[in-house]
Amino acid sequence: MQTRPYNFSAGPAAMPDDVLRQAAAEMLDWHGSGMSVMEMSHRGVHFGRIIEQAETDLRELLGVPADYHVLFMQGGALAENAIVPLNLSRAAKADYVVTGAWSQKSQLEARKYCDVHLAAQVDASHGYDRIPPLHTWQPRPDAQYLHYCANETIDGVEFHDVPGRFGLPLVADMSSTILSRPVDVAAHTCIYAGAQKNIGPAGLTLVIVHRDAVGHAIPACPSAFDYAVAARNGSMYNTPPTYAIYIAGLVFQWLKRQTEGSLQGIAAIAERNRKKAELLYRCIDASALYYNRVAKPDRSRMNVPFFLRDETLNEAFLQGAQSRGLLQLKGHKSVGGMRASIYNAMPLAGVQALVDYMQAFERDH
Ligand SMILES: *Cc1c(COP(=O)(O)O)cnc(C)c1O
Repeated sequence: MQTRPYNFSAGPAAMPDDVLRQAAAEMLDWHGSGMSVMEMSHRGVHFGRIIEQAETDLRELLGVPADYHVLFMQGGALAENAIVPLNLSRAAKADYVVTGAWSQKSQLEARKYCDVHLAAQVDASHGYDRIPPLHTWQPRPDAQYLHYCANETIDGVEFHDVPGRFGLPLVADMSSTILSRPVDVAAHTCIYAGAQKNIGPAGLTLVIVHRDAVGHAIPACPSAFDYAVAARNGSMYNTPPTYAIYIAGLVFQWLKRQTEGSLQGIAAIAERNRKKAELLYRCIDASALYYNRVAKPDRSRMNVPFFLRDETLNEAFLQGAQSRGLLQLKGHKSVGGMRASIYNAMPLAGVQALVDYMQAFERDH
């Protein structure tokens, strides 16, 4: 039963109630240890169990092949924008695809460490609203990797398939789509994700990297950010974000419970997410007041930006939403309008409540 307002924040984003309740119940004493998780040695037996279980569950949920490392790192996806080229570019060539604000940041940061070429980009003068057709991409065959952002959280543009392989190792920022649907891990050399969208508390970064790609960091790479050092030390070269890893582990358990009894695993979650997004886009497309400007095949199932044709109604829309327990719907400042983020923790009933409100608001104005 819903006991709290529905939170549509893009990140840090809503967490499953069950996870927060469990964390609260275990706050003072984790499983009879006499300690809170945040008070435990990261090298002790209790935390060892927590991080091992988290990794096992994540591997199971995403089907991570055995020849990939799962690393629990820090600094969020923006730090990873530097950490990726430090580890994978060999200070040589790296190619990027720009489909929105986040991949634009990624390629700018990478320029500090390597020779960056944009294999494809969208003319953003009218906003990022589509993925450039794959046949127009022109990656360099001798690039060390091809980087893309699987879901542009700000612009609401999502890759629904892994972009063709182009014969290059693929690197993906999956911060806002990881665990929302199945992913072909083996098609990538490296996947990274900040935790605060679909996984847990901000600060934790998940990195899934092929073992052959590890061990080639440029000499200036900080030891704490070197994938080889992190892998060799089981993500404990320095103190990892222990509490965030614990919460992430509870989210993985929650996801496994959601898919219990279904052989589909994360595909069942994906189906639920598809239904949620369809409900909201259908409301927007049927309306004379609201619109979304992203090309239909490239629309995000996690972040749905939309605008009111009469922008003078924006404040009234947000206030009405707030008073009905529909929180954090204001769009990103660079895009304006509204944005509803509907990650795994948002139930269909929350999207239905939003749609009901949007339709009532349109009738009243
Ligand atoms: C939120 C987000 C980021 C930034 O994450 P930080 O944790 O703030 O560094 C980068 N990329 C994508 C796709 C995101 O959604």
